[in-house]
Parts: sequence; structure tokens; C-alpha cells
Amino acid sequence: MPCLSESIRYDDPNLQQGLQTAYSATNLTELIVAAWALARVMAVQVVESVLREWAGRPTSWSPCPDCGKTLHSKGFAKREVKSLLGVIRWRRRVGRCPEGCEIGQVAPLDEALGLEPYQRSSGELQYLGCSLAVFVPYATAARLLRWYSASSVSARAVWCWTQAAGARAMSALQSQLEALASGQEPEEEALEQELKRAPLALSADGVMVPFRPHSEDNRGKTKWREIKVGVLARLARYTTRSGQVVTRLRHRRLVAVLGEIDVFKPRFWLEALRQGIRSTPEVVWLSDGGRGFWGLYEAHLRPHARGILDFYHAAQYLWKSAAAWLDGRTRQARKWFGWSRHRLRHGDPDDVLEDLLEALEVETLPESAREALVKLYHYLNGHRDHIDYATYEELGLPLGSGMVESACKWLIQQRFKGVGMRWSEEGFNHLLHLRLAWVNGTFEALFQLQPSPNR
Ligand SMILES: [Zn+2]
Repeated sequence: MPCLSESIRYDDPNLQQGLQTAYSATNLTELIVAAWALARVMAVQVVESVLREWAGRPTSWSPCPDCGKTLHSKGFAKREVKSLLGVIRWRRRVGRCPEGCEIGQVAPLDEALGLEPYQRSSGELQYLGCSLAVFVPYATAARLLRWYSASSVSARAVWCWTQAAGARAMSALQSQLEALASGQEPEEEALEQELKRAPLALSADGVMVPFRPHSEDNRGKTKWREIKVGVLARLARYTTRSGQVVTRLRHRRLVAVLGEIDVFKPRFWLEALRQGIRSTPEVVWLSDGGRGFWGLYEAHLRPHARGILDFYHAAQYLWKSAAAWLDGRTRQARKWFGWSRHRLRHGDPDDVLEDLLEALEVETLPESAREALVKLYHYLNGHRDHIDYATYEELGLPLGSGMVESACKWLIQQRFKGVGMRWSEEGFNHLLHLRLAWVNGTFEALFQLQPSPNR
């Protein structure tokens, strides 16, 4: 056998066997999988030998939190943690209070390693498990992780990690909300110059998710509840190869909550401040007519953002009214609708409003038609400041909220609405906040890791 087998410690049967498997592989996949397993065994040895060295260093004992006496060493005790490399085992000094206070065993090295007292899996394993769980069901995440790490990881374990990390994300958000409520605004997120000048688009939408009727009990009828999702993104314009100018969302940030609009409002405002609503020259709020999200616009965003009523939604309203007004006379309804839609899209919205007033003056107008027209008039007039579509087009702003709303839908649809899925409120909330952390670039920080540069 070549010299590699000699450079790897000849007395370790694990390594020798791994090497043997690699040499007897019959195709590339087998070879790589075997080499991977060997690398893991070697890596465990490296980690364990570093830990042995650290454990051998002198320990400085802290005072007992109960009585203040300096803790005493009780010698070495075993510690074991499941990791991405497999199980890591080492021994480290543990201490107790000389007065016998009930503080349990204290292990200064565990603390220095960033380990919690009962932690049985290391941060990077939890990180990878939670990353997978952000996109796939827990059982699938556990299976992928088992394959990758050759550790016995259960779906239940991945679920527990997700709950813990989600709780960390929620409590971080809670303290930011409290700071905001006491008048302390968050820092703006750093952006490249080019993006900083790009328009900031804001929108929100409701998405329904199936819940269990009772948190602990899976029986009973599914309860559908609305999740309010907000998106904040920069609008970047690109020229495609065919010369078409298209707008895409960049630097997407999402906000979401299972709860009422009043719970949603401060969350959205917090993120709006972080995304520079105060310092961005062009901010737009895009929304369809309903759902009460315009209340959020009125309450917080109006002084900073231009409101745009989704054009397709307005046009749909026009059509419904035309059909009701010109009851049965489809050709006339179509003609009127086509004309008003065109005027709304390219002309002056005041002309459309005037048109409606004129139609209302016709004395022979039937009551049901009058009702439809009055409703339409109030709808458009109420949104008078949000329907200058010709101007928006000139400014290169989107006329519809579809693009931003689909970002909202993605957050929920992709993971929470699989076949047969039903959520408990707690389970949903924790995973939701992990998904938010993933999208918003704060995921790594939940696991004591540096953010990856490409996000
Ligand atoms: Zn004590």
C-alpha cells in the first residue's frame, strides 16, 4: 500500500479500515464516500486531541454562586457531544462547592467552549439541521443530516433545535420592539451605494395557514388562520438580452406575524426604519384595495412613502361596476370598461372620476346601477392619491403589487402548506421566525456563526 497508509497512524484500526475501504472502491462515488468517512474519523481525532490539550491546562475556579467560596476540583469527568463529524468524546475537570451547596457540577471548559450544561449536540450540527428544516419537513432534514454526519439524528432532535433557535430569534425581536416602543430607533442596515439610491418598495398581504384546533391535540377540524406578511425590498431595473427593461426585487426583507394588524404594525415599522424609510428618496407602498393594510400605510408610512393602489385590482373593480351598471348589456359594459381602464392607466384619474359623476346625473339610472357607480366612485376617490398610474410609469415604479405579494406568499406557501400539514401555534411561530431569520440575513448569528458573505 502507498505511503499514505504509513503517514496515517498504523495502530489505529478505524483509520486503516477506512483507508482500506477507499482503496477497494469500484467507482468515483464509492471512493468519495469512503474518503469522506475517513476524513471524518481523522477530524474527530484532531478535535479530540485539541480538546485534550485544552483540558490539561490549569483551571481557574470561580466562586460558588450561592456561598462565594472558591469551587474545588473533583477531578476529570467524561463529556460527549454529537457533531457534524460524528461523536466527539473528551474528559475535562469538573468542580463542586466545598460547602456542598446544591449547584451541581461546574465545568469551566464547557463554558469556554460555548456549551450549555446539558447540550448534547454542537452548534454547527444544529445550524445545519435548522437550515434544512427551514425548507424541508423535519423528518427529511434529519435524514439528510444522518447521511451527511453519520450521526444518529432524529426528526424530534431537529424539531427541538428549531424550537430553541426560533425562540432565540423571537426574543431578540421582542427586545428590538421594546426598544422601539421606548423611542430608540434601530440602526439602518448597511447597503451598497447603488442599492441605497434604488427605490424602496413596501407591501403586505395575508396568507392562510392550516392549524390544529388545539395546540397539543391533533384531533378535530383544521383551523385556518391568517398570517400577515410584509415585504421590504429595493427595486432594481435590469435590461434583458432582448432589450426589455424589467424590475426585480433586491435585498428582500420580510416581516410576518400570526396575529392581528396591531401586532403586525410595529414589526413592519421597525423593519421599515432598518431599511432606511427615512433616508431613501423614493419609497413606495404597493397594495390592493382590501385587507386593512392601507390602515398601516395611513398610520406609519404616509409621510415617507408614495401609496400605489394595485392597478389590476382597481381595473377589476371597474369591471365589476361596469357589469352591474350596464346590467346585461355586455357589449356596452365592455366598451365602457375598456375606455375607463385605458384612461385610468394612461390618462388623468380625475377624468375617470368626472365621468362617473356625469353618469350619476342621468335621472333614469336604475337604483342598483346607481349603487354600483356610487360605490366605485367612493372607492376610486378614496384612493385618489394612489392611482396616478401614468406618473408612476414615468418614474419607473411598478403599478401592481403582484411582485411583492408573491414574496409574501413564498415565505408561507413553500414550507407551511404541504399536504397534510397542520401546525400548533408554538411550532409554527418558532419555524416562522427561523425562516424570517434566513431570508433577512440574521440566521447565522443565532448559532454563534459569522454570516456567509453571499447573502
Ligand atoms: Zn457554596
